[in-house]
Amino acid sequence: CGIVGYYTFNVRRDLRFILDCLFNGLKRLEYRGYDSAGIAFDVVDAYPLAQHHTDGHKVIAEENGTLEFTGPMIIKEVGKVDALERMTYDIIARDQLDLKREFRSQVGVAHTRWATHGPPSAVNSHPIPSDPEGQFVVVHNGIITNYSLLKAFLIKHGETFSTETDTEVIPKLCKFVYDRLSEKVPFPKLVMEVLKKLEGAYAVLVKSTHYPGELVACKRGSPMILGIKEEPGARRASFSRLQDAADTKWRREAIECFIASDASAVIEYTKRVIVLEDNDVLHLCSGGYGIYNTGGENVEEAVPRVLLTL
Ligand code: GLU
Repeated sequence: CGIVGYYTFNVRRDLRFILDCLFNGLKRLEYRGYDSAGIAFDVVDAYPLAQHHTDGHKVIAEENGTLEFTGPMIIKEVGKVDALERMTYDIIARDQLDLKREFRSQVGVAHTRWATHGPPSAVNSHPIPSDPEGQFVVVHNGIITNYSLLKAFLIKHGETFSTETDTEVIPKLCKFVYDRLSEKVPFPKLVMEVLKKLEGAYAVLVKSTHYPGELVACKRGSPMILGIKEEPGARRASFSRLQDAADTKWRREAIECFIASDASAVIEYTKRVIVLEDNDVLHLCSGGYGIYNTGGENVEEAVPRVLLTL
């Protein structure tokens, strides 16, 4: 029902600020109605390796002494955003996470769900992971109309589903495609492969442990906007082809991005937004942002998207 995403390229932001963006965004989308809410964010390099399962939010990965990135923290529950926010800060206090810890590159996603497939429950709430490690994590607005076919296909290939949602086929397909790649492809390319299989309406955010510090957003039939905070007088970053994004010489000009299903969720943080069009695939990575068509071409190459000032 409601989607909020946060991304910082090169401003240092502490975890508290990032969580505030996500929760404030969700609260501004509450008027649309929802039955449950959830967030996912990375806890990188700094904390006990805690990963929270939706079932009782117990820690399933113990601290093992190394400080490497394991997976996203996913917190979700039936009920109000306020309650989710309290629960999140309780978990943060319990795990002694440092809210002042700053990030230069961080991805956070949040969702309010209006259940269409599968009753409201913590496990059916979004973000929905592909597997217990959260290799791919998705928030989704809309309905995947061919999900039962896709689900049957994945089950035939040995996947087990943990939710009753239509949405779960999306992270599962991401993992399915990823596991079968002969060589690693850019994140948006992987998502494009998955989109080819989906029918119905969606606005989707995907994050992945295989692509840390990257976020992909795409939409068809459901609204999605990109809010951009830029350095004053900056040029817009742009990559002519998807492949260039990885080793680009372009400096990022946007310093922070906010993605949402509705501009009201980001207005507090920026007044500059691009309204994404159907079949746009937005890629945020440390090099900047790019908007591609499903063939991997930058849609802004010929005609830059209109940047609206709210
Ligand atoms: N169809 C999805 C579900 O039931 C998403 C619903 C929504 O747009 O909130 O989980």
